[in-house]
Amino acid sequence: MNFLPPELEAYIETHSTEESDVLKKLNRETNSTIMMPRMLSGHLQGRTLAMLSNMIKPMYILEIGTYTGYSAICLAEGLQKDGKLYTIDINEELETMITTYFKEAKLDSKIELLIGNALKLIPNLNIAFDLVFIDADKENYSTYYDLAFQKLKIGGYIIADNVLWSGKVIAKQDKDDKDTRAIKDFNQKVQQDHRVENVLMPIRDGLMVIRKKSN
Ligand code: SAH
Ligand code: CA
Repeated sequence: MNFLPPELEAYIETHSTEESDVLKKLNRETNSTIMMPRMLSGHLQGRTLAMLSNMIKPMYILEIGTYTGYSAICLAEGLQKDGKLYTIDINEELETMITTYFKEAKLDSKIELLIGNALKLIPNLNIAFDLVFIDADKENYSTYYDLAFQKLKIGGYIIADNVLWSGKVIAKQDKDDKDTRAIKDFNQKVQQDHRVENVLMPIRDGLMVIRKKSN
């Protein structure tokens, strides 16, 4: 997951704005009590998402894959005054922890947590989004892209996480597993989509940043 030497990673983190106290605490608690804490965005990616959101100034954000709420709190930083972030996760066991931290970050009125399968829930959202963050099961990335695209304003953005998949996207074909195949298909689909502009940013495990030019 770390493509840069550890010393350089450390230098980058010490020259990027610090995590807030709430985010530090959420990061620590996720690492000590929750399964697969590596899924949490973390310091550098969290600040990147907050910076991008502040640049976009979205009214409505959709996040697919909440986990413990770290990236949701970061993305919500850029919301307009009356803006709202909708975040979806299928794991109901995380609900209490997520809502506790949204309250602690004083974002409970701006963030709506939806528990359930994103594939089923997204079609029911009648909202034109300015920003969508795709970070749930890798197998469905291309489907999430199609679903999100329909709900995205022209000029809106989709950001997809883990698109380098620890570097496995350039592994030999015969080493492909299901998730690697799905990420590669997703990246190719975006690259071939003439309705968008896209940049694959080598932040952490790879962020695909996509701008919708037309329907
Ligand atoms: N965005 C978070 C990390 C998300 S980890 C962060 O950066 O901190 C991926 C999450 O996707 C997990 O919590 C998992 O429960 C959720 N997920 C997996 N499949 C899903 C589905 N079909 N619908 C909604 N959420 C799903
Ligand atoms: Ca992720």
